[in-house]
Amino acid sequence: MVEFTLTKEQQLAQKLFRDFAENEIRPLAREMDETEEYNMELLEKMKKLGFFGIQYPKELGGEGADTLTYTLCMEEVSKVDASTGITISVHASLGCMLLEKYGTEYQKEAFLRPLIDGRKVSCIALTEPSAGTDASAIKTTAVRDGDHYILNGQKVFITNSGFADIFFIFALTDRAAGGVKGMSLFVLEKGMSGLEVSKNIPRMGIRAAQNCEVTMIDVKVPAENLVGVENKGYKLAMEAFGSGRIGIGAQAVGIAQGALNEVIKYTKERKQFGKTIASFQNTQFKIAEMQTKIDAARFLVWRAAKAKDNHEDYASYAAMCKLFASDVAVQITRDCVQLMGGYGYSREYPVERMYRDAKITEIYEGTSEAMRMIVAGKILK
Ligand SMILES: Cc1cc2nc3c(=O)[nH]c(=O)nc-3n(C[C@H](O)[C@H](O)[C@H](O)COP(=O)(O)OP(=O)(O)OC[C@H]3O[C@@H](n4cnc5c(N)ncnc54)[C@H](O)[C@@H]3O)c2cc1C
Repeated sequence: MVEFTLTKEQQLAQKLFRDFAENEIRPLAREMDETEEYNMELLEKMKKLGFFGIQYPKELGGEGADTLTYTLCMEEVSKVDASTGITISVHASLGCMLLEKYGTEYQKEAFLRPLIDGRKVSCIALTEPSAGTDASAIKTTAVRDGDHYILNGQKVFITNSGFADIFFIFALTDRAAGGVKGMSLFVLEKGMSGLEVSKNIPRMGIRAAQNCEVTMIDVKVPAENLVGVENKGYKLAMEAFGSGRIGIGAQAVGIAQGALNEVIKYTKERKQFGKTIASFQNTQFKIAEMQTKIDAARFLVWRAAKAKDNHEDYASYAAMCKLFASDVAVQITRDCVQLMGGYGYSREYPVERMYRDAKITEIYEGTSEAMRMIVAGKILK
């Protein structure tokens, strides 16, 4: 039975994340969106405060908190800036999670510890120009050459790659077997010869996040950087993105709640026909419905997080929370723009940015269609 109350520690952490988001992120969010650049001083502050290792053990330099606490961080930062949410999420919930579970002692010391304690930032690269929802169609290759592998290929839409120190790369180690049976995961480091990162790809939303193409031309990677067992990487990819979806669900809840909070403030002040917009029954009913949907989405996120912490099979819970929360975020941010009229559409207010940012939660770490396939697969098996 999943309890929906927060412990004292979780409440304290939530307040810390909320205060940081309000005081440090909110003042920079609009500028980062306009310039399409992430503020590196802000990144350094978050690294120092432990935002990049919340759910990892203290022995490895983390904060020793649980997955639910991590979702509280995702929600609070995404309330003011979804780009910050995805920057933390891609780092903290994907490659790091795989290294903690499947990494060798060497990999944990050399790569995981600095990623968790905030010295380094990571990205993870599965998607390619012709391999999105069907991740098994990747073409990047890793060919064994003595005590190295030689990697060649191209990855697209790789979040954090613009400033990452560590690149988790999925590549085929057995081309004949194909992606499901012939994929492996490697750790690459910034500066390796032949590893190139493009400029930030222009986008509709989460514009401050660094989302680039990553190209590998004869990159020589030590064999000791192979994570887990050779040719078993597809399972790792599914596991990483399966877990990452809990954070995206929390990001979507944060975007929706952030937009609704703006609308509540605005409609209580703005007057038309001699009355506040909040006094119209249409506004009241919309706000009541929106908060109800956000709370429902948050409970789905918390259920998935708790199931993960309890070591239950959480894959379909994670897919459900992402499916529902992302739909709620898109609907609610659209309705929030409407309730603010022309001012909602104006870039002076953050709601138009939140509307643009919400859309990506229905696409990355598996589209809503892919989420439906996972949920239906579980129900109908
Ligand atoms: C901003 C951004 C950040 C990203 N960050 C990363 C990252 O850090 N690392 C990474 O590896 N990838 C990343 N991605 C890639 C992302 O995960 C993919 O874009 C996503 O999985 C969808 O793949 P696709 O874009 O190739 O769409 P496609 O797979 O081509 O899908 C197109 C449409 O067809 C639908 N569709 C596909 N197959 C089916 C089916 N069998 N049945 C029904 N409908 C189907 C999809 O749902 C979608 O609506 C990012 C993408 C974006 C835009």
